[in-house]
Amino acid sequence: MNRETSDLAAALRPRLPSPLQPVADERFERHGVRLLLKRDDLIHPDLPGNKWRKLAPNLRAAAGRPVLTFGGAYSNHLRATAAAGRLLGFPTIGVVRGDELARRPLNGSLSRCAADGMRLLFADRAAYRAKGDPDVLARFLRAAGVGADDVYVVPEGGSNALAAQGCTELGRELRDEDVDVVAVACGTGGTLAGLAAGLGQGRRAIGFPVLRGGFLGEAIRALQQEAFGGPAGDWSLDDRFHFGGYARTHPVLDAFARDFGERHGLPVERVYVAKALYGLSVLAAEGALPAGSTVVAVVTGREDGSDQASSR
Ligand SMILES: *Cc1c(COP(=O)(O)O)cnc(C)c1O
Repeated sequence: MNRETSDLAAALRPRLPSPLQPVADERFERHGVRLLLKRDDLIHPDLPGNKWRKLAPNLRAAAGRPVLTFGGAYSNHLRATAAAGRLLGFPTIGVVRGDELARRPLNGSLSRCAADGMRLLFADRAAYRAKGDPDVLARFLRAAGVGADDVYVVPEGGSNALAAQGCTELGRELRDEDVDVVAVACGTGGTLAGLAAGLGQGRRAIGFPVLRGGFLGEAIRALQQEAFGGPAGDWSLDDRFHFGGYARTHPVLDAFARDFGERHGLPVERVYVAKALYGLSVLAAEGALPAGSTVVAVVTGREDGSDQASSR
């Protein structure tokens, strides 16, 4: 076992608790709402935001074994896992959705994974969908040349019970603050599951799914059951702001993100953060955020110039 993985924080020096930043924005002030940004994007340059919070407990559990995980062609989770492997010295294997990708030059995101030493396996859509099946998993392990006992498997997007438990810290960091509502963008929902559990009495969390489908509530309930033994905290989802699905965008969303970035000197990450901030601004305009309340938007990641927002 690699010594460093037993003390991740000493090895990687994450910036925790993440900074909480007031922003003066008339779209909120007009409705009597105070807006704060929870800058999880500043936690670590290679494991930003919820990726640190979700991976850290899993990497402790992996204890230096190779880590196998799953993601799409532009997965932030795959990139963070690959970077952790490089920084801490354990092998990483990424199962990527889409076997056609194997025949193309790697995109910027997957190139970075490979440069960090991640072994990439490409799975066709059917195999990828069946990745929870033990036979399918066994095939991936054989292809990667690792035995089932020698590898630690992290689910797609990094969301499992340990990840949700790791994200309770995000809620706990806000306990001493005067906060009413916390908003976060959702992919798999692991971050919201943990955030809501950590927030404590009298606060509520709102999740903005970036994928279309409406299946997320069930997934979050299942994660909370596994992580906390039952429902935890006050949370809800607002499904109106996915703009057609993952990495889909719209001129209205682009204009909002550009404007927000210029006003506040913060390039807004487009796949997740822009949709949460936009959704929150609509809730303010609708009067759904009570006057006098304080709202925290979690900045789960940063804009890094990768080509993903333009892939339609
Ligand atoms: C992964 C990711 C999310 C989604 O987190 P989930 O726990 O999967 O809901 C949100 N924002 C950013 C920037 C991410 O990289």
